[in-house]
Amino acid sequence: MAWDRDSRSQIWSRLDQKWDLIIIGGGITGAGILREAARLGLRTLLVEAGDYAQGTSSKSSKLVHGGLRYLKNGQVKTTLESVTEREFLLRQGKGLVNRLGFLFVNLKGDRMPAWLFGLGLSAYDMMARQWTHRSYDAMDICELCPPLSTPLLRGGYRYFDAQTDDARLVLRLLQEGVHYGGTALNYARVTHLLRDQQSQVHGVVLRDEASLDRPEMEIQARAVINATGAWADFLRTGESQRPRLRPIRGSHLVLSEKRLPLTRAISLMHPRNGRPVFLIPWEGVILVGTTDVDHTDMQNEPRISALEAEFLLEAVQHVFPESHIESGDIQATFSGLRPVISSGKSDPSKESREHAVWFENGLLTVTGGKLTTFRLMAFQALRELQREFPNLAPLDRSQPVLLPPPTLDGLDAAAALKA
Ligand SMILES: Cc1cc2nc3c(=O)[nH]c(=O)nc-3n(C[C@H](O)[C@H](O)[C@H](O)COP(=O)(O)OP(=O)(O)OC[C@H]3O[C@@H](n4cnc5c(N)ncnc54)[C@H](O)[C@@H]3O)c2cc1C
Repeated sequence: MAWDRDSRSQIWSRLDQKWDLIIIGGGITGAGILREAARLGLRTLLVEAGDYAQGTSSKSSKLVHGGLRYLKNGQVKTTLESVTEREFLLRQGKGLVNRLGFLFVNLKGDRMPAWLFGLGLSAYDMMARQWTHRSYDAMDICELCPPLSTPLLRGGYRYFDAQTDDARLVLRLLQEGVHYGGTALNYARVTHLLRDQQSQVHGVVLRDEASLDRPEMEIQARAVINATGAWADFLRTGESQRPRLRPIRGSHLVLSEKRLPLTRAISLMHPRNGRPVFLIPWEGVILVGTTDVDHTDMQNEPRISALEAEFLLEAVQHVFPESHIESGDIQATFSGLRPVISSGKSDPSKESREHAVWFENGLLTVTGGKLTTFRLMAFQALRELQREFPNLAPLDRSQPVLLPPPTLDGLDAAAALKA
């Protein structure tokens, strides 16, 4: 697919047709649905208000994982499904999704006994039909990760998960969706939903955010999906529905790899409240995350608070006291909004991270979940639309989750690399 200078104008000029499906939101959820819907032959249009993946899908911890901590909450099915998707993505998305080694460090004063973590890792490995974790004593852990210097170290575990570039994963899914015949348009904001006399949604009103001269346009579709993540209530509550989402901010610090040279990720329990904290090597820097804070300002880009930065820095200093990492070592920060379905729990960390799909007056909202489970969310959304599209081919998990990347076969590789 080539997105050239004219492709947006060309797409605008052919929007005036009846689409099978319009997807609102160009994050991982929308992109995953576009790919599957187009693959099954639906005439599908995805619209994104800004840059693709500009929302939460570029501000995650970049892990493709089963979610070990969901096991602790008894969410065995969620973990099993995520682990299975992780394995598919590792096999079929080589280069974009890569295995990542973790060291869990067990420190004196940890709130959870290390053996319980080991038990969780056994279940985690069994779900992936592998046995890759093992325990180490404090001396071995220090050998595996020399900057670890705390006298509180008791030992730990090595285990494996996976890592990706979240925004690139979104772009890859969009490209594959377009390859299968779908259409994706960025800088196109849905301002309203179109409704018939029974209040059923049958299309959207679209505004070109890149050209104020272009008049708003009404576009019709047999089905409309709201995949706007943490912003999903905005389109819904326009229809006087009660809000269902509880946007929860998660923030990361970015440290220089030179200040903290880690060759594998570190996971630990925060000394203050036992919350898991990760230090993840990524593209020449170390990401430290994450937090869980209720967030209300939905109009502006989310930002880390001083308290969150202090909380994350405290975890780093706790395990790497001799590295003397201070606030001046923070090169950057980023924050994303988890689209969490509210159940009214007082502690945001206790809210379930499972995805949810529901119909309201013809609008299908798909939200919550994780980067890792984009295909499961897409399948569930399309299953909900089977009444609308009864001839849709069965959704089959044995189909590749990603296509093989284009190769240089048949090209002059040297010329292609020079270009
Ligand atoms: C700190 C943090 C760390 C995380 N780490 C991980 C991880 O390591 N692994 C993992 O699997 N998951 C992780 N997650 C979860 C995962 O990142 C999210 O669940 C996922 O990215 C949500 O994707 P989405 O497409 O639903 O929402 P988004 O990516 O937010 O996409 C929604 C899009 O809708 C667009 N939009 C909104 N309104 C409109 C409109 N009116 N018209 C057109 N477009 C509109 C927005 O611009 C946005 O681009 C993390 C989440 C957070 C916050």
